[in-house]
Amino acid sequence: MTHLVLAGHGSHLNIDSSEPFHRLAASLRATGQFDTVSVALWKEEPSLARALDAISDPDVVVVPVFISTGYFTRTVVPREMRLQGPLTIRGHQRIRYTPPVGTHPRLADVIIERAREAGAQPSDALVVLGHGTRRDSQSEKNVYAMAERVAARNLFAECGVAFIDQEPGMLTMLERFQAERLFVVPLFIADGWHVGETIPADLALDGPETRRNGRIVRYTPPVGTHPALAAVVRELAQEALSQAPPPSPSPLAPPRPAPIPEPPTPNVLGSLRIEPTRVCGPGEPTIELPPDPEAIRRHVRVDDAGRYRPLTGANNLPSRWWVPLRDGLTANDVIEAVYPLATIHRSQQAAGTLRIVPLDEVLERQTGRYEETRQLSPRGRRIVRDALCGQCARTPVWPLTTDHPTSGSDAPRPTSCQPPTPSAQIPCPEPCSVFVALAREALAWERQPTPPSPVDPSVPFAAFEEPGNQIRETLLATMQAPAGAGVPQ
Ligand code: SF4
Repeated sequence: MTHLVLAGHGSHLNIDSSEPFHRLAASLRATGQFDTVSVALWKEEPSLARALDAISDPDVVVVPVFISTGYFTRTVVPREMRLQGPLTIRGHQRIRYTPPVGTHPRLADVIIERAREAGAQPSDALVVLGHGTRRDSQSEKNVYAMAERVAARNLFAECGVAFIDQEPGMLTMLERFQAERLFVVPLFIADGWHVGETIPADLALDGPETRRNGRIVRYTPPVGTHPALAAVVRELAQEALSQAPPPSPSPLAPPRPAPIPEPPTPNVLGSLRIEPTRVCGPGEPTIELPPDPEAIRRHVRVDDAGRYRPLTGANNLPSRWWVPLRDGLTANDVIEAVYPLATIHRSQQAAGTLRIVPLDEVLERQTGRYEETRQLSPRGRRIVRDALCGQCARTPVWPLTTDHPTSGSDAPRPTSCQPPTPSAQIPCPEPCSVFVALAREALAWERQPTPPSPVDPSVPFAAFEEPGNQIRETLLATMQAPAGAGVPQ
């Protein structure tokens, strides 16, 4: 049984950022080549840190869906998923970790395909457009390597690179290339902020085709959203499996753990009402959704006001929808589509096997721009917990510190919108990435006290830097309240 995990970035602010991973997973599932395909994301759920909780298959392949070998593939993904290198043996599991998709030679085919689909001919120039960064030389290497692979095929009159954040910059493309038509292929995974906004704005593009002084610039979608990326993932997974093949059955092999019995499904879980033949979201159920977990997942990505919901447990689930339990769809499928990993964490909690990670451990392991979150004071940590987890249908069962029991003054407090009887609780075993992002802002406000602003409901849920953000304003007001005013100390 082989389980393929697509590890990616995701975003707290951009709803489109993780869609390529979900589409890629769906297309790989359709091939039937792997027993199961799932996604694990740095900024969204299921998180990198917890996605393996749901996997009991003995053979697992983690493919990082990133463009280059760098900080995320070398540091963040292995750290969060607790991987020890290309092969991690954990209990009965063999977890392979492959190089990122962006470094595979087959990606050159996807770049060429993108240019040809946009109409590129042998007389044209193909420009591989990368992000680049002066902070990591590895990042540019891959862009150059891909351009060289494409150039070696001699399919176009010219082939070269351009970067957003380093030289040679994208603004000088028209001077550096001689061909009348330039085909610019973004070497990016998602159609996100850079591909959709900053690049077109900085290049003053008119759309897919821009005419300038008798020359033409054609801007293609990014390589990461091309259907051919699935073939690259398949090849990476197969290479990893052939290097560390599943062992032949042996009586000495570690036994596969017995499946954990599921606790009975409650009538209410988070904001869901579970009936024998259907599951309903909050409010009067009038909108019928198809019995398809992907359709449910997409529906609950935005709240009633159309705002992106990066925190799946946030108590702003869209209202008035229901989904029939038919065509093989179970109540647990719906719960998982709305609250990823909720069913597995409930089962593990009931069985006493839930791995709980305290807040201080999570903050200690942060690196890069989040490293400083470990300096947030104990009071600040409590305030963040109360402000954010109080808005979440999950109940934190993680303690604030490693040496504190999960009971006593730091005991997780009821935060669900429903009375949190054990059977109706969704345990949260580890502070999430939204929590860490808010902790970073809270530290800045501790260092430089900031007065709260009026709440503006149009501000995105996780735009904590933006005045008017509801969580930000709650937090700032609590931070400024005098000691003894019901504020955690
Ligand atoms: S850390 Fe808090 S906000 Fe994040 S998922 Fe857990 S309970 Fe929800």
